[in-house]
Amino acid sequence: MAEPLLEVKNLQVTYGSGRKAYSAVQNASFTIYKGETFGLVGESGSGKTTIGRAILRILPTTGGEILYKGQRINGKISRALDKQLTREIQMIFQDPQSSLNERAKVSYIVGEGLEEKVRQALLDVGLLPEFASRFPHEFSGGQRQRIGIARALIVEPEFIVADEPISALDMSIRAQVLNLLR
Ligand code: ADP
Ligand code: MG
Repeated sequence: MAEPLLEVKNLQVTYGSGRKAYSAVQNASFTIYKGETFGLVGESGSGKTTIGRAILRILPTTGGEILYKGQRINGKISRALDKQLTREIQMIFQDPQSSLNERAKVSYIVGEGLEEKVRQALLDVGLLPEFASRFPHEFSGGQRQRIGIARALIVEPEFIVADEPISALDMSIRAQVLNLLR
């Protein structure tokens, strides 16, 4: 029997509060097992990105539980667990045009102080190590998404939330990026 890596139980996420409160996620439950690729499917606006951001702790939850390796990770957690999650859980964002810091060089984006690992990470995603000192605007959408993937993979995460990582890319380069993720 496979071990659960991530369990989402009756998750609720609300944007805003009071009269402006908007309940974006209500009672979402699913389990992702170690080594499994899990696809969360739903129409636009159904809350997929919101769930991903809640798992990453970018958004607070208003109900339910998120367990990672059996430990609750939503709400208040210890500083040690927070550090562990920062290392073990990574996210690749939907839109490579807005998810990269335009004022930072690629070397900084992919991993400050990890020059050798950066070299290898760029090679792993099919980019030249020389690209490390360039800025994101010098790259195509596909290359930018490779930078986003290198950024997520460099810390050897146990778990990656991939939020429609190819939907912003041209049809012709989608397969390349999917193969890379595989
Ligand atoms: P999906 O990724 O499935 O397309 P989202 O998680 O982005 O959906 O959005 C779910 C719902 O939450 C949508 O109705 C959206 O308009 C709303 N929403 C998303 N972000 C915010 C926000 N920052 N403030 C208020 N409502 C939001
Ligand atoms: Mg989305």
